[in-house]
Amino acid sequence: MAKPLNKMRIIVLGCGTSTGVPLIHCHCKVCRSRNPKNKRLRASLWVQVGEKNFVIDISPDFRQQALRAKIPRIDAILFTHPHADHVGGLDEIRSYNFVQKEVIPAYGHDWTIRELTSRFPYIFEPGTVEGGGVARVSLHEFSLQDSSFLVEGVSVIPIELEHGSQNVAGFRIGDFAYLTDCHTIPEKSFDKLHNLDVLILDCLRMSKHDTHLHYEDSLQYSSKIGAKRTIFTHMGHDFDYVSSSKKLPKNHALAYDGMIIKIK
Ligand SMILES: [Zn+2]
Ligand SMILES: [Zn+2]
Ligand SMILES: [Zn+2]
Repeated sequence: MAKPLNKMRIIVLGCGTSTGVPLIHCHCKVCRSRNPKNKRLRASLWVQVGEKNFVIDISPDFRQQALRAKIPRIDAILFTHPHADHVGGLDEIRSYNFVQKEVIPAYGHDWTIRELTSRFPYIFEPGTVEGGGVARVSLHEFSLQDSSFLVEGVSVIPIELEHGSQNVAGFRIGDFAYLTDCHTIPEKSFDKLHNLDVLILDCLRMSKHDTHLHYEDSLQYSSKIGAKRTIFTHMGHDFDYVSSSKKLPKNHALAYDGMIIKIK
């Protein structure tokens, strides 16, 4: 049974696009900026729901992110999709296995489960590795069409999104939704997005892109969804935190690594 949600706290572990910001070898103003809010690790979130600690995606920067945010334990992992910038840090879960002495459940839709199984055979085909051990993670499949599924007693609503030729997951927990990596939000998904307190939404760059929302798209969707607060994420180096933030409409913000969002 789903427990009633008391308080939630969301910590942005990374709000950068797949390359991160700064980009290797780029000398633009944002990549050279000394403002820590212009340094974007790959997209990942830590969600505290009551006593439970969930992470959404395990980026290639996860070790650094977990150390910086001091994530004390992980009760479950939610995967939006299996692109490398969202799953690349999976091996770092070992550090939590050492302390928690338990298998950590991970949730994904069919594409994620298929890809994780084939890309991390040493994790999901036991007996193939010797030495320091492997991440101990159990895979649990949900469908993008599910009305909701339970994670450690917490009701999670999957939101179907179009990301290039693939459909991927966004998540709603209580009055918070995380919709990263998409270029279209299908009409049927809006039924799951009413009355949001906080929406974190993909916003890759200023110009149009085949697989991600760009600035104008993100603004249009945020106004259609009408959350009380909208925060843009998965950003590249088009966005200087200070000057781009000033141009945003009311109740909008750019994410930054380490940003903490409290939801009552
Ligand atoms: Zn991504
Ligand atoms: Zn740059
Ligand atoms: Zn992606």
